[in-house]
Parts: sequence; structure tokens; C-alpha cells
Amino acid sequence: MVILKQKNKKLDEIYIRDEKTNIYNYRHFKEHLIIDVERAKRLNDRVSLAMIDIDHFKFYNDSNGHLAGDYALKLLADIISSQCRAYDVPSRFGGDEFALLFPKTGTSTARDIAERLRKIISDRQFPYEDAQPVGELTVSIGIATFPDDALDWSTLISNADRALYKAKADGRNNVVVFTSIEPPNIPG
Ligand code: GH3
Ligand code: MG
Repeated sequence: MVILKQKNKKLDEIYIRDEKTNIYNYRHFKEHLIIDVERAKRLNDRVSLAMIDIDHFKFYNDSNGHLAGDYALKLLADIISSQCRAYDVPSRFGGDEFALLFPKTGTSTARDIAERLRKIISDRQFPYEDAQPVGELTVSIGIATFPDDALDWSTLISNADRALYKAKADGRNNVVVFTSIEPPNIPG
């Protein structure tokens, strides 16, 4: 009975965790996102989403091999998890992209946490990072907030992604919020 319980617990963990990084997987992230957006609609609250993408990660893999790349992914996942509050949801979105969900949080707090995270990653020493195009391993981050920037969960992902593309276009290793590229329509 005890063994069965332990096995079930392990299966539950496998269901929600990303194998390489042990951070939450896309399945768990999406479930949380949908629930949190619905809850925010009901309670007139906010939800922010940060999309985090590693800068020049293909270069890192090509220079150092995919196992070194996997190790860097795990280190980054640990840093991202360590900077979250208890109810935030740090996840691997896929590839070299992480999603960080901030329930009950507006843009300015999300941006502060993301900016702190960006700086910690930029300051941290990663193996072989000196050979990267800018001499360090960094991330770019895009942020969008429900309901300010999007009225449903999938648009929230799209708009955080659009902010992320702007962060890349602006030179990488920075944080961009969606409202700064598409200011809200103020009637009148
Ligand atoms: P950018 O700064 O524009 O994001 O450049 P990039 O090189 O990071 O972007 P690109 O999308 O070209 O490359 C993403 C790379 O992420 C490609 C792939 O080798 C790597 N990658 C995706 N998943 C994994 C993984 O599970 N392990 C490893 N080691 N690398 C991965
Ligand atoms: Mg990348």
C-alpha cells in the first residue's frame, strides 16, 4: 500500500515536471494559466506572464555540445525557480524558452521580478560562456498582463511572445513589457 502510494506520487510528479530541468512542464503551465485567467476574470484581478528565451542558445550548443546545453538549461531552470514567490508557476515552455506565470500580479511587479532575474542570470558564471557572441549567457524576457494586454490565455501568451521578440530586436539581455510596444487604447 505504501509502495503504491509512493509510485502514484512519482507518476503525479512525472505528469507535471519537465524531464530535463525538473521545472514544471508545458501541460502544467497551461492548466494553471487557464485556471488563473478564469479566476482573474471572476474576481476582477490581474495575471502576468513572462516569456523567457535564452540568447544565442544555438551558438552555445554548437560550440559546446548538447549535453553542455542541457546542463545550462538545468542551471537556468534552478535560478528561475529560486527567484519565484511560492504561488508563481515557473515552467519550461519548450526548447530554450521558459514561461513564468504570476497569479494576482500586475505588470510593474512582474517587470521588477523579471528584471531582477535577468540581472542575476547575466551576472552568474556559466560554463564556457566566455565564447558566447557577447561573452556571457543571457536571457531576453517579454511580459504581458491580463486584462490590460489580453483578454484570454492564448492571446496572453502571444502578446508576451511579441514583447519577447521586441526584447530580442532591441539587442537581447533585456526585459520588454507589451504595453511599451502597444499602448492601451484610451477612448476620448
Ligand atoms: P536567440 O537569441 O534569437 O533566441 O537565438 P537562439 O540561438 O537561442 O535561437 P534559436 O531558436 O535559433 O535556437 C534555439 C536553440 O535551442 C536551438 C536548439 O539547439 C536549442 N535547444 C532547444 N531545446 C533544447 C534542449 O532540450 N537541449 C539543448 N541542449 N538545446 C536545446
Ligand atoms: Mg533563444
